[in-house]
Parts: sequence; structure tokens; C-alpha cells
Amino acid sequence: MKKIILGKEGDQYFTINGSSVSRQHAEVTINDSGIWTLTDLNSTNGTFVRDEQTGVLKRISQIEIHPLTFICLGPDNSHGCSFYARQVLNPGDFKDELEYMNEKEDEYDKELVAVERKIRWQRWIVFFLNVGVAGITLLIPRSFDSVITDFRLNIMRIVPICSTFFSAFYDFSGEKKKLAEQYNRFRHCPNPECHNKLKSTEIRSMDCSKCHCM
Ligand SMILES: [Zn+2]
Repeated sequence: MKKIILGKEGDQYFTINGSSVSRQHAEVTINDSGIWTLTDLNSTNGTFVRDEQTGVLKRISQIEIHPLTFICLGPDNSHGCSFYARQVLNPGDFKDELEYMNEKEDEYDKELVAVERKIRWQRWIVFFLNVGVAGITLLIPRSFDSVITDFRLNIMRIVPICSTFFSAFYDFSGEKKKLAEQYNRFRHCPNPECHNKLKSTEIRSMDCSKCHCM
């Protein structure tokens, strides 16, 4: 069994200076069957891992992890330290992390295409609904004009007004923003001493603009 203490005075291979990190913050153990466990050592600011679906950090006290689990010592917006678990054993080699990050980018690109297609459909549906209602008002036979004219005119006025308001205030791109936000959580420089939040282009070109570690 291997045991690695993480912290300012820990025995991980890289240095941790973040002010939110305790001297002995957490520990990773790898047992003889290769199972990795992360345990918080009653740290002041807590130990977090990133959810692999949503990207949201969750605070843990003890959890089974794997080499590509993303660990944060201290909360996300604090002066903590964040890294992929395998860095505690293989510092400076980011091949697996880069592959993982690029897979996430592929996933994002695919989901983005689907969401954009959905938004296009929503816009067309609203458009055709408006045209449809306007068309129906035009199809009302002229012989009924005297009875129905006011009604028809009102509909013809109301429909475009409603659709304009709807288009102006309904946020078609809400889902797109949510998706971008979700995948942004996966864009961290894999260098534990860097903490740079990467852009998609930096991951694709494998170049962190801050530390050029990749
Ligand atoms: Zn970096």
C-alpha cells in the first residue's frame, strides 16, 4: 500500500503554496489491488473533487477516486491547489490529462451541435406558429367579414406583437450558455503549480498560455 500526504508539508512531488491549503490537508492511498482513496485530514478549507459529468466540485471527507480524478485542496475560487490525482505519482507528465481534456472538448463540440440544432428548430417553430395563426385569420371567408372583421384584425395585430415579445424575452440560447458553463469547469491547466483556467483553443493546441507546461 502507498500513502501520499497532500499539503504544504505533504509528500506529493510538487510544491503547494496556496494560502487555503493546510500543512497536512488530505491523503491519497493506493492499496495493493490498485484502488485509490482520497481522505480529507480535517483541513481548514476542505477537500473537493470534480464531478465527472457536471464538472461541479463537491466537498468530500473520504472517497474512492481514480488517477484522472480532479482534486481541489480548498474551494474553487480560493488560493488553493488543484490537480489530477495521478500528478501525485507522475508529476510533469500530462499526456493522460491532455487526452482526457481533449475528449471532454470533443464531447462539448458534439453536444453544442445538438443544442444549436434544437435552438434552430425552436426558432422555426415559433416562426411557423406565427405565420400559421396569421394565415388562419386570412382564411376566414369574406362573407363573415361584417361579424368577424374586428376579431380578425385584433388577432392579426396581437400575433405579431406577441411573437415579437416572445422572441425578445425568451432566451433561446439559455441551454447553450449552460453547456458552455458546464464544460468550462473542465478547462484547468493540468500543472498543479499553475491554476490557469484554460480556453478551449489552449487545450486543442496543447499550450497553456501561462506556464507552457503542456
Ligand atoms: Zn498552466
